Amino acid sequence: MTATLIDGKSFAATLRARVAEHVQRLKADGLTPGLAVVLVGEDPASEVYVRNKGRQTIEAGMQSFEHKLPADTPEAELLDLVARLNADPSVHGILVQLPLPRHMDADKVINAIDPAKDVDGFHISNVGLLGTGQKSMVPCTPLGCLMMLRDHLGDLSGLNAVVVGRSNIVGKPMAQLLLGESCTVTIAHSRTRDLAEVCRRADILVAAVGRPEMIPGDWIKPGATVIDVGINRVERDGKPRLVGDVDFASASRVAGAITPVPGGVGPMTIACLLANTVTACCRANGLPEPE
Ligand code: NDP
Repeated sequence: MTATLIDGKSFAATLRARVAEHVQRLKADGLTPGLAVVLVGEDPASEVYVRNKGRQTIEAGMQSFEHKLPADTPEAELLDLVARLNADPSVHGILVQLPLPRHMDADKVINAIDPAKDVDGFHISNVGLLGTGQKSMVPCTPLGCLMMLRDHLGDLSGLNAVVVGRSNIVGKPMAQLLLGESCTVTIAHSRTRDLAEVCRRADILVAAVGRPEMIPGDWIKPGATVIDVGINRVERDGKPRLVGDVDFASASRVAGAITPVPGGVGPMTIACLLANTVTACCRANGLPEPE
């Protein structure tokens, strides 16, 4: 391996410690940031995420409110809960865990969240604010990727960035953030022609596809910085394993720096969620935001 490992786990631990310090200062002024997480149904992966979010929220000194609803909950009931959380002054951040059961309209539910409490940054107002370069709530996964890129590369302006994946939760906001950093951004997806050639132009390659080890080393420009967002559960030698969208073994021989899976983007996502909750709390109370 020649690439530098971008250690998301330790980066996230540092960010969580900074968040916890800020929380202590707010608490000294009588203010405790609160995060409400809503889970509908029993998706096992979602249950793990929600449990981790709750644990880390409490570890950072904040209040955690968990709401678990059965899978057959009527949409109107979920919307009522969101309205109550919107009105609750002890709740500064609201996250509705996706995916929602099929009988629910996820867009309608997300857009019912008060944009000021939308710590996932998925509300249409926050999407619009981000797209127009205004102050917004920034989606946690791309925000974590950007923090690691800035930390590793410093100024990103003028670099060629290729984002593979165009989802609303990762690909598109990632591209907006990189554009905001003055990168020359290409968004690739399942219809992109000659994806290998597109990837080879990237100084920064962000893979957010959801296909195990789809991007091999020979698609990567020598020295490029590779951010692997993918989390894919596979079986290797009869054992369950997590792998990214990038073939780590071959990519790490070509790239200049690369995030591992696990231990790269994943831990940063929850740390950014905690940071967004503190930001929301500060904004709601007219206090200076954490940097
Ligand atoms: P989506 O399924 O919503 O989007 C996947 C994107 O990849 C789509 O835009 C799709 O293109 C594109 N794609 C699919 N196949 C190909 C292909 N063969 N070539 C090029 N592009 C392709 O996924 P998400 O954005 O939600 O998540 C992506 C990955 O990131 C997943 O593995 C997920 O688990 C992981 N993830 C990790 C997080 C973390 O904290 N680390 C957080 C969120 C997600 P098209 O639009 O044309 O269909």
